[in-house]
Amino acid sequence: MFQDVKPSSFGGTFIVKAASDACTPEDLTSEQKLIAQTASQFAMECSVCKVYSSEAFDTVVDEALQLHGGAGFIQDYEIESVYRDSRINRIFEGTNEINRLVLPMHFLRKVKSGELVLNQETLEQAYGAIKEENDLLPLEKKAVHTVRYLLLLLLSEALKVAKEHIVHEQEALMKLSNLAIGLYAMESAVIRTEKAVRKNGKENEQLKVDLTELVVDLTMREVRDEATQLINGIATGKKHQALHYELQTVMSDFQYEGTFTKTRRVADSLIESDRYTC
Ligand SMILES: Cc1cc2nc3c(=O)[nH]c(=O)nc-3n(C[C@H](O)[C@H](O)[C@H](O)COP(=O)(O)OP(=O)(O)OC[C@H]3O[C@@H](n4cnc5c(N)ncnc54)[C@H](O)[C@@H]3O)c2cc1C
Repeated sequence: MFQDVKPSSFGGTFIVKAASDACTPEDLTSEQKLIAQTASQFAMECSVCKVYSSEAFDTVVDEALQLHGGAGFIQDYEIESVYRDSRINRIFEGTNEINRLVLPMHFLRKVKSGELVLNQETLEQAYGAIKEENDLLPLEKKAVHTVRYLLLLLLSEALKVAKEHIVHEQEALMKLSNLAIGLYAMESAVIRTEKAVRKNGKENEQLKVDLTELVVDLTMREVRDEATQLINGIATGKKHQALHYELQTVMSDFQYEGTFTKTRRVADSLIESDRYTC
């Protein structure tokens, strides 16, 4: 499958060859096998990037068409084809639903192999990280640790309830997946922005800081909603109450201020850059 696609970032044709149904492992050289094996370790990250980027792109394109008004809906304007073409990204290369279902399977495999131990100690460690002090982007790092803790907590609760049937609990898997996607998106933004700020100073990297704060704000609102739905789906009685209490407690710090100002600064910098078309 996907023989005609050449993803340049993963060793081009090697990986396409490795992924092909028509190709057996015996056809591969040792170097090609090594590349395929190494790339497969990043399967989780690939799923996250595919789902997150295709949905972010759809949001951008949808808004861009809206800005054109009725003109955006007719073929004379480039945005019409961009809007139509963007839609396929959620369908091919693994539909987003299938990528979402596949994602938690990687965690479950790690739990089964013992690589990820979901016990009290792991949860306490994850909870402890939320309390760590940070000099740069403290709230954003706290958000990353909070979502990691929630993901581990809710994965462990879902496993307790569904046991080996968890693989059939698609609604729960989708929600867990959304937490993992949010976590990855926030952590990537935080790490990149921290690196830039340490190198160039905050005053020169205000745009990255604003964007990171806005991503974290948006993601934490989504996480709150996804986690709420997951708890409502998997827990009952006292456990249901306790999980909601825990969710509220760990989420209580994430009330962002000045979001309109930050959004306007981002918009101003886009206008100043004068790099958009249509
Ligand atoms: C323009 C275009 C280019 C393409 N290029 C290629 C290519 O180069 N190489 C190639 O191999 N293929 C290609 N495809 C095929 C593409 O990969 C498939 O369309 C895609 O994998 C989805 O399969 P399907 O269309 O059979 O949908 P189905 O598998 O029938 O799925 C239908 C819908 O149900 C959802 N769904 C299915 N199972 C579940 C579930 N358990 N839970 C929740 N939702 C579920 C899916 O996400 C999807 O939204 C292309 C398709 C298009 C339209």
